[in-house]
Amino acid sequence: MSSIPLLTGQDGARLPAIGLGTYDLRGAAGVAATASAIDAGYRLLDTAFNYDNEGAVGRAVAESSVPRESLIYSTKLPGRYHRHDLARHAIEESLFRSGLDRLDLVLIHWPNPRLGLYAEAWKALVEAREDGLVSMIGVSNFLPEHLDRIIGDTGVTPVLNQILVHPYAPQDAWRAANAERGVLTEGYSPLGKDTDLVREPAVTRIAAAHEVSAAQLLLAWSVSLGVIPLPKSATPARQAENLDVFDIELTDDELGELAGLARPGEGADPMTHEEL
Ligand code: NDP
Repeated sequence: MSSIPLLTGQDGARLPAIGLGTYDLRGAAGVAATASAIDAGYRLLDTAFNYDNEGAVGRAVAESSVPRESLIYSTKLPGRYHRHDLARHAIEESLFRSGLDRLDLVLIHWPNPRLGLYAEAWKALVEAREDGLVSMIGVSNFLPEHLDRIIGDTGVTPVLNQILVHPYAPQDAWRAANAERGVLTEGYSPLGKDTDLVREPAVTRIAAAHEVSAAQLLLAWSVSLGVIPLPKSATPARQAENLDVFDIELTDDELGELAGLARPGEGADPMTHEEL
């Protein structure tokens, strides 16, 4: 089993350098897929209220022989529950659905700035942490101005910001803004789901030079940036393959070539995207 390096965040929080995306892993098959990932070595599991699989992921955690304290169960609060009282209820519901006795990490899924309630939601997350429902709190898809608002309001900095990161969307400025604030960056869709990224000639050529798959090359690229990628796979062989990326060292020329794949404007705009 591969050993996953750890990154250190706010308040000394230790987070694995890679995690499992679980979007679409539901029901009994979702439990089995999550269990096989834990067996392969994944310790960080990324679910969300809106994925309708908090129970499946929680069951795999509960039934695993891996000690509970070695696993990080991470979920996300949806936009329709940003109002302070609703946020508290949704976090309690996520905990109930997980079947666990605590959540390890709760993120605000999107800022939904048109609703204008993400600061209220953040206060509810801060209180949920104080009350012991959750150990760590963070955000997703938060632009620097959203981070500044919640940090300014509460004095509490999110442990991480989960954003779209892959070579079409390298997010140099956004990642730097997270780092300046002491916020780790988690990367979603690291394999470029729904794009042609795994078939890009630059990706397949560099992968071949290292004798690794395109997926492994893309994950090694995320890791080289200090991003925590969250590859999703329902397939045990791919789950294991996706963990075997920590010995891949990319040259400056290769990193430069991959930087050339950036497409300005890739991904949804958090100022306008409504995730409810
Ligand atoms: P990914 O970039 O992780 O791609 C997943 C796809 O890649 C699946 O079709 C999977 O197929 C395939 N795949 C996985 N491993 C390999 C491999 N080694 N070789 C070839 N194909 C492979 O996409 P996601 O959008 O799912 O992103 C990952 C996670 O990020 C999500 O599951 C979710 O947890 C999170 N996320 C968060 C968002 C947010 O707003 N915060 C938004 C989007 C995602 P198969 O399963 O059949 O192996």
